[in-house]
Amino acid sequence: MNPIHPEKTAVVTGGSRGIGRGIVLQLAKLGYKIVIHSRTGGEPAQQMKRDALQAGAAEAICMEADLADPIQYNPFAQRAFDHLGSCHIWVNNAGIAPQVRADLLETTPESWDHLLNTNLKGPFFLTQTVAKLMLKHRSMNHLNNPDHIIFVTSISSTVASIQRGEYCVSKAGLSMTAQLFAARLASQGVIVTEIRPGIIATDMTASVKDKYDSLIAQGLVPQTRWGTPEDVGKVVAAIARGDLNFSTGAVIAVDGGLTIARL
Ligand code: NAD
Repeated sequence: MNPIHPEKTAVVTGGSRGIGRGIVLQLAKLGYKIVIHSRTGGEPAQQMKRDALQAGAAEAICMEADLADPIQYNPFAQRAFDHLGSCHIWVNNAGIAPQVRADLLETTPESWDHLLNTNLKGPFFLTQTVAKLMLKHRSMNHLNNPDHIIFVTSISSTVASIQRGEYCVSKAGLSMTAQLFAARLASQGVIVTEIRPGIIATDMTASVKDKYDSLIAQGLVPQTRWGTPEDVGKVVAAIARGDLNFSTGAVIAVDGGLTIARL
C-alpha cells in the first residue's frame, strides 16, 4: 500500500523563507501540490514558487494572509482548500520573535499581545478551521489514509529565555495546542505532530548569530552545529511519507541534543 495520498496536497504557513522554505522544498521533492503562504507575498514568495517547481512540486501556489488578524483565518483556509480540492498536510510554521529582546521585568503588554496573537491565537483558530475542513473532506470522500496537521513550535516551549518571555509563553501554549488537537482528532483520521526546532540558521536568528556561534562553540548544542531549515523539512517529509502514522501527539526535537538534560 502506498502510504502517500495520491493527491498529495499541502499548505505551509510562512513558507516563503527560513524553516518554511526548508519544509516546502522537501514536500516539493515528494511531488506535492503546495500552497506557499506568506504574509505579504511579493518577489520572495514568487521565487519560492519557482524553486518549489524546480524541486519537483506538482504545483505551487502563493497565497497571502496576515495570521495575526482573526478575520483572515477562515477566508485563507477556505481559499487554500478550495484551490487544492483538499489538504493532506497542513503545516503551522509562521511565527515571530519579539522585536526587542527585553528582560522579563520589562516585557510590555504590546509585545505580549503581538507575540501571542501571531504565534498562538493565529495557529489555534486557524487550525480549528482547518480541522473542520479536513473532517468534512474526509467524511465526504471516505478516506482511509490519515491527514496531518503539524505545528512548528520551539525548544522555547520548555527552555526559559528571560530575554524573550513572551515568545516562550507563546510556544509553550502552542505545544499544548498541538496536544489538544491531537487528542480531539485522533479517532477521526487526522494525525497531529509537534516539531520543536532548536537553533536554526534563518533570518529570525541572523541578528543573534555571533551569540549563538559562541554558545555552540562552548558546547550548548551536543551535535556542535547550527540546525538548518532542511533538518526540519526532512522531519516533515518523514511525516508526509506516512512513517509516523501511529504517533499522533508526538513531539519531535530538531535541536542537535540541546534539550538533553546533562550534568
Ligand atoms: P523567519 O522569520 O525566517 O520566517 C517566519 C515566517 O513567518 C515568515 O515567512 C513570515 O512572513 C511569517 N510570518 C510571521 N508573522 C506572520 C503573520 N502575522 N502572518 C503571516 N505570516 C507571518 O523565521 P524562521 O526561523 O523560519 O521561523 C519559522 C518558525 O520556526 C517560527 O514559528 C519560529 O518561531 C520557529 N522556530 C525558529 C527557530 C530558529 O532558530 N530559527 C527555532 C525554533 C522555532
